[in-house]
Amino acid sequence: MRVSYTPMINQYLQIKKNYPDAILFFRLGDFYEMFFEDALVASRELEITLTGRDAGSAGRVPMCGVPYHTADSYIARLVEKGYKVAVCDQVEDPEEAKGIVRREVTRVVTPGTIMDYLEEKRHNFLVAVVEGAAGDFGLAVTDITTGLFMVTQLAGREALLDELLRLEPAEVLLPEGEERHELAEFLRQNLKGAAISFWSEGAFEPERAARRLQEQLGMSWNRAGLAGLPLAVRCAGGLLDYLKATQKRELAQINQVEVYSAGQFMHLDSVTRRNLELTASLKDGSRWGTLLWVLDHTVTAMGARLLKSWVERPLLDLAGICARQEAVEELVNGGIVRQELKQILKEIYDLERISSRIAYGSAGPRDLLALKNSLAVLPSLKAILSRQQARLWQEIAETLDPLEDVARLIGEAISEEAPPGPKDGGVIRSGYHPEVDRLRQASREGKNWLAELEAREKERTGIRSLKVGYNKVFGYYIEVTKPNLHLVPPYYLRKQTLAGAERFITPELKELEEQILGAEEKLARLEYEIFTAIRQEVAGQVRRIQQTAAAVAQVDALLSLAEAAVKGNYVRPLVNNGTRIVIRQGRHPVVEQVLGPGEFVPNDVELGGDTRLIILTGPNMAGKSTYMRQVALLVLMAQVGSFIPASYAEIGLVDRIFTRIGASDDLAGGQSTFMVEMRECQSIIKAATPRSLIIMDEVGRGTSTYDGISIARALVEYIVQRIGARTLFSTHYHELTSLESLPGVKNFTVAVEENGEEIVFLHRVREGKADRSYGIQVARLAGLPAEILRRAQEVLKEMEGRAGDSRRQSQPHSGQKVILARHPVLEELSRLDLWQITPLEALNILASWQKSLRQEVGRAGNRGSKKKPLPGMTGLFGRE
Ligand code: ATP
Repeated sequence: MRVSYTPMINQYLQIKKNYPDAILFFRLGDFYEMFFEDALVASRELEITLTGRDAGSAGRVPMCGVPYHTADSYIARLVEKGYKVAVCDQVEDPEEAKGIVRREVTRVVTPGTIMDYLEEKRHNFLVAVVEGAAGDFGLAVTDITTGLFMVTQLAGREALLDELLRLEPAEVLLPEGEERHELAEFLRQNLKGAAISFWSEGAFEPERAARRLQEQLGMSWNRAGLAGLPLAVRCAGGLLDYLKATQKRELAQINQVEVYSAGQFMHLDSVTRRNLELTASLKDGSRWGTLLWVLDHTVTAMGARLLKSWVERPLLDLAGICARQEAVEELVNGGIVRQELKQILKEIYDLERISSRIAYGSAGPRDLLALKNSLAVLPSLKAILSRQQARLWQEIAETLDPLEDVARLIGEAISEEAPPGPKDGGVIRSGYHPEVDRLRQASREGKNWLAELEAREKERTGIRSLKVGYNKVFGYYIEVTKPNLHLVPPYYLRKQTLAGAERFITPELKELEEQILGAEEKLARLEYEIFTAIRQEVAGQVRRIQQTAAAVAQVDALLSLAEAAVKGNYVRPLVNNGTRIVIRQGRHPVVEQVLGPGEFVPNDVELGGDTRLIILTGPNMAGKSTYMRQVALLVLMAQVGSFIPASYAEIGLVDRIFTRIGASDDLAGGQSTFMVEMRECQSIIKAATPRSLIIMDEVGRGTSTYDGISIARALVEYIVQRIGARTLFSTHYHELTSLESLPGVKNFTVAVEENGEEIVFLHRVREGKADRSYGIQVARLAGLPAEILRRAQEVLKEMEGRAGDSRRQSQPHSGQKVILARHPVLEELSRLDLWQITPLEALNILASWQKSLRQEVGRAGNRGSKKKPLPGMTGLFGRE
């Protein structure tokens, strides 16, 4: 039997059909209701009561609902949990509707398009990705709450993933065809926390995408700087199409596109970013204990977001770095200006998000007031900036538009006491609009008349407790308590009976009611109309507001760097195009702050010139990791334009920082600790250049000692001889200190003082090498039981004794390389002058060597080992 539903449920099902992957919020009166499966999911996720509703012959179907005026917070909670929500509103006046009220979905809220309840200090990114035929990618990123819109193209999946991990998008959009594609799976695996969505493939097609982009920007993509970037155009167009379809409105806040390329900024892969704890701590992902935690003294949310992006993307161009440094320096030297700026910034609200809400059409009267109050301080901000010398300050001052016209408009139109909701009345300032004033007067007079009517009726009836009241259902009434009912005159008409009183209406009261309510209703409607018109007018200036917001954000971020510099007693590093990294008395910005004043031991570093690679040895806990990260962080800070904790620094521009630090399993990704380590080494070797800075902490620990030493040694040799990158390499393999014989390699160690069995960490890095690890002493400090420590000492002595014996016999640590170098054949070969012998002589010499080597191998084989010659040896000596 076919199930028949009520007309309303039919309407619901019709609409729901188009939004199968979203929870449909269906407006019914003052509630948004959810039905069927959506109701089950939402009631569980939102912990709201599940009820039911008669749906026709199908009987009762599951239903749950939330009040419309608090719907945004429920939507935000669902979106936070990864759901999409389609908001379906009544799009005609219920009173004018014939039959069932027309309803439509007015917007779809997804993780990447939510406007409210977002963290202030970070962007909420929606990213679209398109894969090209050659395995390259287009990437478009937007934050609709601020209007940011950027595109780039990336070569290869690794680069794509690095960029996505940096952006940490809330949602990634792919063309629909990718759904079954392994790219979606790859992103799901690697991008935890991002929702993966799909959008019609057609929207990503070159022509359609270009058209859409042009429509949004009001200029051709060529002029917008996207010439020669077809993949970027495709994903930008697809992204805009998705926005239009889900948001169902023009997004005027997205009005320009920034084209960027990975090559503009210092390259930091995701491993390095994580290891250096730039914006999220390794322990729990929080801000505490990160570089941003130390540097962020911003006052506004705009400044905080900008500073975060600066820290994530240090600059490569000297001019840009120096411009920021100069601006910071001026503030470091100007305590009063810093104070003045801070006071002013405190008055400025999040202009980026406010202007986006205005353009989006969701801003309320208080948003406009916040905008106006923020604009009020801009002239003094501009004046202060214009007085500064640094070129960047001058530039910022120039782009800062005080928007006096916008401020005036809002000031004249919007009442200072306006409520948050645009429909709540009392929004428009008196004197702005004659009709508003007239209606207000009428309703005020009506209320006076009511007071007069009450007094008159009291007089007339002699009921002293008689009062006039109002409620939403019955309108105005006269209330008389039970004991006085006998005094009620006959022209009172009974309307409502309460426990202790009766409510009445009179013809006169009815007439007044019509006047008052009519005026109030008209007034509310008119005020709303005027408000939206003003909002629309301000929205027309969104580009100017955004430009000013960007200038304010810059002021805040630079001020923050200056503040950090003053607080931390930092100096301005000399950044140049050279290849040296010289830091005197450097300190780790975060550890220093955690330890407290005077506790951190400063250290120097000198890399470049004749020291390309430092091998750092020293006991556990001595401070090797701290020292190496410190160098990386100081270089990074310098290229952000920040001052750094040191007494002096010269930084030759670094194009990439690589770190290989600590052990981490990627069990879910199917990789062991050692595999992860080797993969990280591989990607460093592949991408590092002579301009790079490499930090390697204890490579080769995840395997047997000899394997580990061999790999570590080969890596060091490769890095100094082939790459020439500036490198810090810490190790517990003291054997590696012999590598100082290689040009460019130097040994450094972290000093400790021994006091009997105890050690004292001095945290001082000096030239030289450590001869042992002090692991047992550190274990003692950690409180391991004495019995274990004693036994460990015994084992250590035994092993050291044995190693000493075998070293005397075969010198294993100097390796095969040394034995080969001493072999008579090789020595003879190295002395041979090939230009002085004929080919025949050469052949004879070769034959004699072969003969003697064969005899040697034969003797070795006879000496007892039944092993076959090693595979490499067969190659050298020929087939037997
Ligand atoms: P391991 O070899 O065991 O990994 P490590 O040599 O890398 O040890 P770190 O982890 O860098 O040692 O430092 C150990 C602790 O020493 C740090 O947590 C820090 O508190 C302190 N420390 C490191 N460097 C300094 C310094 N320069 N001044 C003061 N304290 C320091």
